[in-house]
Amino acid sequence: MILQKTIRASVVTEGVGLHTGEQCHLILRPALPNTGVVFVRQKGKGYETLPALSEYIVDTRFASTLGKGEFRISTVEHCLCAVSALRIDNLILELVGPEIPIQDGSSLFFLEALKKVGLVEQPVPRKYWVIHSPIEVVDGERWARVEPYPGLRLSVTIDFPHPQIGQQTIDLDINEVTFSQEIAAARTFGFLKDAERLQAQGLARGGSLRNAIILDDNAILNPEGLRWPDEFVRHKALDALGDLSLLGAPLMGYLKVFKAGHDLMAQLVKKITNSPQCSRLQEMAFDISK
Ligand SMILES: [Zn+2]
Repeated sequence: MILQKTIRASVVTEGVGLHTGEQCHLILRPALPNTGVVFVRQKGKGYETLPALSEYIVDTRFASTLGKGEFRISTVEHCLCAVSALRIDNLILELVGPEIPIQDGSSLFFLEALKKVGLVEQPVPRKYWVIHSPIEVVDGERWARVEPYPGLRLSVTIDFPHPQIGQQTIDLDINEVTFSQEIAAARTFGFLKDAERLQAQGLARGGSLRNAIILDDNAILNPEGLRWPDEFVRHKALDALGDLSLLGAPLMGYLKVFKAGHDLMAQLVKKITNSPQCSRLQEMAFDISK
């Protein structure tokens, strides 16, 4: 039987928010079994809560945004992918400030904070979303699907008509080691013309070459260059894994993503939770992806 996990102690991360440019904190706290991953923030003398689940997705443009009432959190995928790669079941993410810190635009900072504080097993079995038959969502040539697989595997293909990107594919089993070595440090990327348009709308005020790869029509503007030649597709794998975590339980399956973004991932996650013929939430005797 595979047991649930939380973190050993609380840990604080901080940095500027992407959209406001304000200093923000995200405090990671241990949580009781069956809590799941839940964002909280102080409201008056109490707390308001926002579970990291697909039913709370309110916006998928540029990033995955969760919302419940007036409580909204954008770009949840960059910290949630680290939580899910470490198979953390129960965690409180306390937001102090308007946003999650963007850090370097990857998930490295969150991964290191979680690894440093360490994990502890809890005496309650974990459930997995086990895929028994393929489930697919399609939008024109873009698609995302899951297939049966004895573990968690991810294949992502992107195709951007830009001389520095083009078509890139990554295909690998996801566990703590592969995530740490191949995906966690891949930074988000964007195009200068979009950044200028967003900033004219008052968004992405904290955006800079410190927290994203920025490209103009031909070149990469970051003086340090790329961390991998295919850093772009690695970041899309990071995003897909973060979006997948909104299932609320680890996937036992093979996720294949072709030119799909947060919108299709949100549809796929909702479909997985609503396809009892194809996928079921169940306990596992063993997890080869551990
Ligand atoms: Zn991203």
